[in-house]
Amino acid sequence: MNKTNMTIFEDLESEVRSYCRAFPTVFTKAKGWKMWDEEGNEYIDFFSGAGALNYGHNDDKMKQALVGYIMEDGVTHSLDMATKPKAEFLTAFQEIILKPRKLDYKVMFPGPTGTNTVEAALKLARKATGRTDIISFTNGFHGMTIGSLAVTGNAFKRKGAGIPLTNVVTMPYDNFVNEGLDSLDYLEQFLTEGGSGVDIPAAVILETVQGEGGLNAARTEWLQRLDRICKTHDILMIIDDVQAGVGRTGTFFSFEEAGIKPDIVCLSKSIGGYGTPFALTLFKPELDLWEPGEHNGTFRGNNHAFVTATVALDYWKDTTFEQSIKAKSGTVHAFLTKLVDTYSEIQGHVKGRGLMIGIESQVEGLASKVAQEAFTRGLIMETAGANDEVFKLFPALTIDEGALEKGLTILEDSVRAVLG
Ligand code: PMP
Repeated sequence: MNKTNMTIFEDLESEVRSYCRAFPTVFTKAKGWKMWDEEGNEYIDFFSGAGALNYGHNDDKMKQALVGYIMEDGVTHSLDMATKPKAEFLTAFQEIILKPRKLDYKVMFPGPTGTNTVEAALKLARKATGRTDIISFTNGFHGMTIGSLAVTGNAFKRKGAGIPLTNVVTMPYDNFVNEGLDSLDYLEQFLTEGGSGVDIPAAVILETVQGEGGLNAARTEWLQRLDRICKTHDILMIIDDVQAGVGRTGTFFSFEEAGIKPDIVCLSKSIGGYGTPFALTLFKPELDLWEPGEHNGTFRGNNHAFVTATVALDYWKDTTFEQSIKAKSGTVHAFLTKLVDTYSEIQGHVKGRGLMIGIESQVEGLASKVAQEAFTRGLIMETAGANDEVFKLFPALTIDEGALEKGLTILEDSVRAVLG
């Protein structure tokens, strides 16, 4: 096979390209938790399409269902018309996910991506409350369109908008401020003090674990208190589960452990199962306020995604999958804890929840160097945090223990190589 000339990307693709710089090879094949490039090099994937591939690459059952559907000339594109795969998905989502968790949500298809579901959530919250402002949190990541970027707590990304982003009040996320200061104390104070000059917001939006922002995990008590504050002041709570949802933290929804029931939930990335663009916005029935057609979009009913998403829900029919995620996250947590103890030069600590886990290092540039080194040794992993200070491990939830340990060993070898 002729090797692809990498300058094609430099010559023909925009300068904004990012991941092909971090992983400079041409990928040809992917299966489960492995990827291969055109030179035949094999990689263990601890990146999983930034959380879009929780079930790994090319899951056999999803592939069979999709190929079967395509071979029967099943409808591909149908806007939001009624189709069989859509009916099957809605039914399975209700029966397997919502009902057992006693969650009563209307399901909306906002468009194919994470930013589409966030935009829909923000828009709906404003329409429902008649208020404008949204409270967001430092280091939160919610997407790249104007509305979702406005609630994203990353100065570099916000600069990309070219205009001031408004109607948002950003508060420190849990554990962000020094001990003894809790941002929720401030929030409560300005909501209670009529003369504070801050308008009551329409909603708060947050991730329970900040995926891009550095694997910061909010404490259960903090989430519960925020939930109480929202209820007291009639503010809607939007949980962005685009990255932390669909099992990443160990349960289907990331907020299950906290026992809260957000008003609006945003899902995308792995909800399609197969890496196909797909998103859902879930909202409490009383928020089903849009007139027919008041919010729509061409790609909000991808039938291929309905087919694979329905098969993916089989993983959730009993608790076996959840238990296996918890066992694997225990393995990773123990390994990383030992790693930071053994290599004190990392100056690090373990962060995250479930299989959304990593190490924050105080040493500038270390996480990026380790990720680069790991790539040359056959491990694909990303960094996170405002200054890329976190090594982020995102293996497929379906990964087998052997591959998990092999990947972790490559990580340790890479750390050792970088520290010299
Ligand atoms: N919310 C969260 C929590 C995300 O992690 C992302 C993507 N990284 C988005 C929203 C935006 O999703 P998309 O890139 O599909 O627009």
